[in-house]
Amino acid sequence: MSAEARLREEICLFARSLFERGLTHGSTGNISSRLPNGDLLVTPTGSSFGRLDPARLSRLSPDGRHVDGDKPTKEMPLHQAFYETRSSAGAVVHLHSTHSVAWSVLPDVDPDDLLPPLTAYSIMQLGKVKLLPFFVPGDAAMGDAIRELAGRRSAVMLAHHGPVVAGKDLFAAVNAIEELEATAKLALLTRGHQPRHLSGEDIQRIVSKFDVEWPS
Ligand code: ZN
Repeated sequence: MSAEARLREEICLFARSLFERGLTHGSTGNISSRLPNGDLLVTPTGSSFGRLDPARLSRLSPDGRHVDGDKPTKEMPLHQAFYETRSSAGAVVHLHSTHSVAWSVLPDVDPDDLLPPLTAYSIMQLGKVKLLPFFVPGDAAMGDAIRELAGRRSAVMLAHHGPVVAGKDLFAAVNAIEELEATAKLALLTRGHQPRHLSGEDIQRIVSKFDVEWPS
């Protein structure tokens, strides 16, 4: 199987798995991933993660031109902004995942460091998650907000919308966005119960041992 055929299959398998576990619903969510030649494979606009066809994924040239396949997601500006500002990005995943959205609309969350430090893996896989403002779906300003982060964040949360995570490849991006949703769920489950957080010293040990991006 060629690298492209394999990536097409993997995008559809991961999407279906995310859909079947309720991590996104309806026709929400989108995935993009880079091919070895720099082209992007992208999930089509209006498609459901539960029923993607590998042969119909959109293919875009490195400069964002639609080459073939169905029309790409209208949330493409989110993806392009990550690829432009993070040279390490090989894939970008965006979901409308329930617990992440629920946590992000609470009044007392920190927009610069959205998730509480409950587990080491959320720190290792996500770094500091930034809460971005609300944008009307499809607004190109979403991409500008990600560009303003200048590549310093791999994971952001769009207010009243959902998370977007970049990874070095599709596996890493999917694992990281699942970690974001699981951590938001833990945060909701423990909210109001005075949970013990990892200390600042613990966080620094994790950050230095695993070379985590942790902007101050
Ligand atoms: Zn969305």
